[in-house]
Amino acid sequence: MEGFEKGRKKRYDSLDWFRLVAAVLVVAIHTSPLADVSGDADFFLTRVLARVAVPFFFMVTGQFVAAGSAGTEAGCVFAYVKKLAALYGVSIVLYLPIGIYAGHYQKASFADLLRMLVFDGTFYHLWYFPACITGVLLVYLMRRCLKQRQMFVLAAVLYGIGLFGDSYYGFVEQVPVILGLYEAGFCVFSYTRNGIFFAPLFLLLGAWAGKSRRQDRRILWTGLVISFVAMSEEAFLLRYFEMQRHDSMYVLLPVVMFFLYQILLESEPAFRRKTVRFAVFVSTWIYILHPAVIVAVRGIAKAVKMDLLTDNSLAHYLAVLLLSAVVSYLLALCLDGYRSRRSRMGGKPEKDRQEYKCARAWLELNRSALRHNVNTLRERLPDSCKLMPAVKADAYGHGAALVAQVLQEEGVDAFCVACVKEGVQLRKKGIRGMILVLGYTHPKQFALLEEYRLTQTVVDHAYALQLNAYGRTLHVHIGIDTGMHRLGVRSDHLEQVADIYEMEHLAVDGLFTHLCVSDSMAAAARSYTDAQAQAFYRLVGQLQQRGYPCACIHMQASYGVLNYPDLAGDYARVGIALYGVLSTKEDTALWQSLLQPVLSMKARVATVKMLYQGESAGYGIRFTAKQDMKIATLSAGYADGVPRALSEGVGSVLIRGCLAPVIGRICMDQMTVDVSAVPHVQAGDEAVLIGRCGDLEISAGDIAAQAGTITNEVLSRMGERLERVVV
Ligand SMILES: *Cc1c(COP(=O)(O)O)cnc(C)c1O
Repeated sequence: MEGFEKGRKKRYDSLDWFRLVAAVLVVAIHTSPLADVSGDADFFLTRVLARVAVPFFFMVTGQFVAAGSAGTEAGCVFAYVKKLAALYGVSIVLYLPIGIYAGHYQKASFADLLRMLVFDGTFYHLWYFPACITGVLLVYLMRRCLKQRQMFVLAAVLYGIGLFGDSYYGFVEQVPVILGLYEAGFCVFSYTRNGIFFAPLFLLLGAWAGKSRRQDRRILWTGLVISFVAMSEEAFLLRYFEMQRHDSMYVLLPVVMFFLYQILLESEPAFRRKTVRFAVFVSTWIYILHPAVIVAVRGIAKAVKMDLLTDNSLAHYLAVLLLSAVVSYLLALCLDGYRSRRSRMGGKPEKDRQEYKCARAWLELNRSALRHNVNTLRERLPDSCKLMPAVKADAYGHGAALVAQVLQEEGVDAFCVACVKEGVQLRKKGIRGMILVLGYTHPKQFALLEEYRLTQTVVDHAYALQLNAYGRTLHVHIGIDTGMHRLGVRSDHLEQVADIYEMEHLAVDGLFTHLCVSDSMAAAARSYTDAQAQAFYRLVGQLQQRGYPCACIHMQASYGVLNYPDLAGDYARVGIALYGVLSTKEDTALWQSLLQPVLSMKARVATVKMLYQGESAGYGIRFTAKQDMKIATLSAGYADGVPRALSEGVGSVLIRGCLAPVIGRICMDQMTVDVSAVPHVQAGDEAVLIGRCGDLEISAGDIAAQAGTITNEVLSRMGERLERVVV
């Protein structure tokens, strides 16, 4: 499903495509395509080969949900569980009529119903949903109490218990005491292949595989072939000796999955994002719908008297598969259309829009410009590098929550902020994914990092000690100083960095540095930037050599992405460019084909009046009329973010498509402009301080130039009291 797993860092096309294969295998399990050919062949296909399908789904979930990386843990887990529960709910309703018709729930006691709901599934294939929910929650709990190795041991023990209730039941039957225990267990659940005994091991394996270092392909393939052959022998032996009560769990299944999954992880992105999303969606719904389709195919076969469809196992299988795929595909098309229509209409409540209509001064954020910038910046980067937008300083004055929400809709799942307070505010507004705090957080506020699942920058080694002394696991990215000499451990202090990795309570999720002259392409700047990059890569290399994982590295900010696209890591911390401008007017002009400004600033005309020749206006009477003129007072001042340096004719605004120069000094809440040349101007009109009006435009770059600063400062000082609206 789209966005089914939040917090994905890279694309894994093969994983996503294998979901289709897995879905095809699951359908095989429930239709026995080779039953007519030979019992052995069908056993091999449906009870051996196809048994990789469900563990595979668990492992994907494990990698993207249960991995607990980068502060996404609780939020991500609960969002996922909610989503699964919703799917389960829909499926229950969907299968209720079929179940009732088939007499499934007849004579079922309350305990039976509860068992179905919590363990067995209310229809045979639906067991997957409660199992996945139980497993994910179990792993989440384990992660809170146990270390990695202990978790694996526990999961393996549970799996072992499960084995003896499944394929190895024959042994249990020999020992009455244990048999009694298992029989008691089977009052609670019908199979040990469930969320307690089956799911956790695969969830953990998936989580581990996603983070582990890649192995050699040849080793993986050899391992896969050998373990699969051995598992087949295991399965046939168990069948021969009639050991199996059920045939989902084998000793060697986790081993097979260990190799298979890593092979799937290895491959490069090869398809369009949308195609991959479709594959994911279709596979989910094939899984959910195929039992209904089995019923439908039987019905259709009867109706049109095509006995082939029910009598020939292979034909039956193909018919079910085809129809399931078509229905799922159509469903995907419908939902996709529905979703894009909804997002086109804009999700914001009407109230917000009304409020700004009577605001004294406000910011309009252009949603499509923001999306455009996200996409062009993404296109400049390799697929493996994701955006981690800088939404610090209230998203450069734009409004952090509004911006982050739009970005989240665009699939952004990592953000960076300057301080812990900004991170907390985003979480309170429902922003998920990783939030990296770039600056210093006081030790008294470490609890907030934990509570709101924020990732903290390690600003130096001494600070790492303080973080570690908090005593509970905190997620961190280590800042590396490669030449800016602001925050970070010096890149030549390998031992200090290694020591931070060893700290018991720090989960080092990433490593980053900051470039300080990437805005310039002058020779000296280039060599400085290269030296920074080399120092960073050298450190990363040394760490990897020592076995410290560097799964998430990043160094580019906006100018880095534009001027040094080759320095892409796992993330790019884009700030100013995302908002459609660059620091100066000149740079903005240089890259204007790529970026669209997001923000417009507007203020209301409060009053229009005459200023007669010789009269003065404003504080300090810095302006005196040379002739009779018409002036307008606007409801915005320097407290709203209009630089005071624009006073006395330096700056202008746009009203009714005309330029109106500032007269006198800009006040805290108001400013006065000359509107002699503006026809029909009246109180209540809109004045544009930044943005377009008619054929004219005042850019953030213009204002920055007039105020002798950079756009970053102008934008980040936009007043908190301005209304902000997404248009
Ligand atoms: C602010 C900031 C950014 C974003 O910078 P832009 O130039 O606005 O893209 C990235 N990284 C760090 C460490 C920052 O402080």
